[in-house]
Amino acid sequence: MDVADLSVLVVLLIVGLIVGSFLNVCIYRIPRKKSIVFPGSFCPECNVKIKWYDNVPVLSYVLLGGRCRRCKVRIPIRYLLVELLTGYVFVHLCYVFICCRHESPCVLLSYIVLCCALIVSAFIDLKLLVIPDEVTFVCIPLALVLSVICPSLHNAEDTLRSFTLVGIHRLDTLIASIIGVFVGGGMIFICSILGKLALRKDAMGFGDAKLMCMVGGFVGWKLAVAIFFVAPFFGLLMAIPVLVFKKSKLIPYGPFLSFATLICIFMQDYFIGLINLYVQFFTVIFTGFHS
Ligand SMILES: [Zn+2]
Repeated sequence: MDVADLSVLVVLLIVGLIVGSFLNVCIYRIPRKKSIVFPGSFCPECNVKIKWYDNVPVLSYVLLGGRCRRCKVRIPIRYLLVELLTGYVFVHLCYVFICCRHESPCVLLSYIVLCCALIVSAFIDLKLLVIPDEVTFVCIPLALVLSVICPSLHNAEDTLRSFTLVGIHRLDTLIASIIGVFVGGGMIFICSILGKLALRKDAMGFGDAKLMCMVGGFVGWKLAVAIFFVAPFFGLLMAIPVLVFKKSKLIPYGPFLSFATLICIFMQDYFIGLINLYVQFFTVIFTGFHS
C-alpha cells in the first residue's frame, strides 16, 4: 500500500468517527421523533449542552471514563461502539472499493450511505425492536437515484452480474436497483406471511422487509438473495444464548440482516459468483427438463 492510499484511509477513519458520532445522535433521536440537526448534543440526564471538547469521537468517551462531565451519569458503551464501528466500516469500504478495486468515489459514497443507514437501523432495532421508517423511506428512493447517478454501483456491463435489459446503461442500473428493492423486500415479506400462517403470530416484522427493500436497492437482487441466506446463520448464533438467558423471546432480526449485508458487500465477488453458479445450475436443469 502506498502513502497516498494510506493517507486516504486515515482521512476516511477520521470522517468515519465523526459520522459515527452523528449516527449516535440519530439512534437516540429518530425513535423519539426529535430533530437530528437541532439542538446540539446534550446530556439526557442533566440536560446540559455538551461542549465541543467533550464531544470528540472516541477520545472524549475515554478521557471522561464513559461518564457525563457534570452529572457523572454513565454514557452507554453503545456510543463508543457506534463510533468505532462506523470508523472501521468507512476504512474497510475505502480499502476494498478505492484502494483495491479502483471504483469511482461515487460507489464508495453509495455504500457509505447504505452502511450508515444500516448502523442506525440495527442499533435502534436492538434497543426498541423496531426499524424506523424515517431511515428506510428516505434511503429507498436514494438508492434508486444513486443507481442512476453512479451506474457502476450495479456494474451493468460487468459480466459477473451480466445485466442488460434495455441497453441504456443508466436505465439498466435503475431497473437493476428496482428489481433489487422488490426481490430484497419480497423475500422477507413472503417469509413474514408464511411465518404468520405457521406460528399464528408475527414472526418477522415489516420493518425487516422495508430494510431489505433498501438494501436490495443499493446492492441489486443477487447480493440481496445472498444476504437473505447469510443472515440466518448469524441470527442462529445469537438466538441460542438470547433464548436461554433472556426472559424476552423477541429477537430483533435487523442487526443480522445488517451484519450479513456488510459481509456480502465486502465479499461481493464471492457471493455474486455463488449466486451465478446457482442460476446456471437451475438454468441447466430447467432447459434440460424441456429438451
Ligand atoms: Zn449529565
